[in-house]
Amino acid sequence: MTNQKTAALAGRTYFIRTFGCQMNESDSEHMAGALVQAGARPADSPESCDILLVNTCAVREKSEEKLYSYLGRLAALKKKKPGLVIGVAGCVAELRRAELFGRKPGPDFLVGPDRYEDLARIVAQTSRVRSLETGRDSLWHEFGPETVVRENPVSGYVTIMEGCDNFCAYCVVPFSRGREKYRPPPNIVREVEDLARRGYLEVQLLGQNVNSYRDPKTGTSFAALLRTVGAVDGPSWLRFITSHPKNFSDDIIDAMAASPKVCRELHLPLQSGSSAVLERMNRGYSRDHYIGLVRRLRRALPGLSLSTDIIVGFPGETEEDHRATLDVLREIRFANIFSFRYSPRPQTAAARLADDVPAEVKARRLVEVQALQKSIQLEFHRSFIGRTLTVLVLGSSKKDARLLAGRSEGRQVVNFVPAVATLGRFAQVRITSAGPYSLRGEEVRPA
Ligand code: SAM
Ligand code: SF4
Repeated sequence: MTNQKTAALAGRTYFIRTFGCQMNESDSEHMAGALVQAGARPADSPESCDILLVNTCAVREKSEEKLYSYLGRLAALKKKKPGLVIGVAGCVAELRRAELFGRKPGPDFLVGPDRYEDLARIVAQTSRVRSLETGRDSLWHEFGPETVVRENPVSGYVTIMEGCDNFCAYCVVPFSRGREKYRPPPNIVREVEDLARRGYLEVQLLGQNVNSYRDPKTGTSFAALLRTVGAVDGPSWLRFITSHPKNFSDDIIDAMAASPKVCRELHLPLQSGSSAVLERMNRGYSRDHYIGLVRRLRRALPGLSLSTDIIVGFPGETEEDHRATLDVLREIRFANIFSFRYSPRPQTAAARLADDVPAEVKARRLVEVQALQKSIQLEFHRSFIGRTLTVLVLGSSKKDARLLAGRSEGRQVVNFVPAVATLGRFAQVRITSAGPYSLRGEEVRPA
């Protein structure tokens, strides 16, 4: 990126509210970096800042609705603080330019995902004019590690690609984030080395479809990248998200198995257990392909903790299709799932289909998926009782301030009674009890 080493925003403070996925969280860290480079400082709240940036998500209708209600609250704040500059970034800024800019009162500026490197200039000029900076291009926009203000002091995101070429029928991402483009491997390695120098214990490689990573210059594949990054001295745990079942080659499985740093954990979105629905979703694999892939993964990576995404109520989904999804959940027994009601999104192929599963049927199917998964998770979590897990300590427990909380290698949330552990370290925790969503334990005192 062009370093904004100016003092254009000196003396001003910013606050960023992030909606959506890890990609957005990571983008917010880059945007914070661009503002800090231009002299701005972070504020603790929307009420105490001069520049308020909302980083948006357009993946589901609900995420957009949340944004509009938040913007309503900000309009009230702006009445009290007329000097406040409000900007909207991210996928909704890209997709809904006209609607957002037409709102009264609307945001002062819009900035799309390919324009973040110009953020400081955009904010600086916004006190004179309203700015609209969106639009996609095919170039890689580099944010060096020196331009990232990280939220988490132990686990660092490293973006390896942008956009998506898959065009799943329900998904807005190819329209909001554009076509795939890949970050050059040396830049990725430089960022991982930077995290290593700062003592980070975990690195999470990010992209909408990381398995299709291919450096256009050298042909480096995702499997090769994983081997290279796994060889960097420093962070002990390496994860990546998101994988696509149709692009998951045996070479990637081999690279995972060969590296002790690659966590035995994988997010592998299934979406539906019905091959007919998968075909209409344009996912590029069948139920049998998915189950076969899971078998190969589990053979090569014993103890692998698998999570997935499920959409209920895609157009034309029958009761039989829905039961097929429940059957796959029973068969695979995921460690965790994220489940959603289908909602039509602009420009997508499925938006042209009738959204014909009634709202109450979608709601019931979602409840059934979640209830089944809850019982599977409870049983799975109980299997940890009596075992000792390595836990990356991330903070105090939300449930009980006397406890610390962290994540195991398989991404299980673990709340535990500390003996010596402090934030940002690994702890050995003996699991004493389990619920459907977390584990509880006691730190084992080192000998
Ligand atoms: N690239 C990833 C993948 O292939 O799964 C993540 C895409 S999206 C950001 C995260 C999840 O949102 C998807 O896996 C899907 O389950 C869900 N999703 C996407 N579009 C949706 C829609 N129109 N309605 C409901 N859920 C949706
Ligand atoms: Fe969306 Fe499919 Fe791309 Fe994931 S792989 S971002 S679901 S189009």
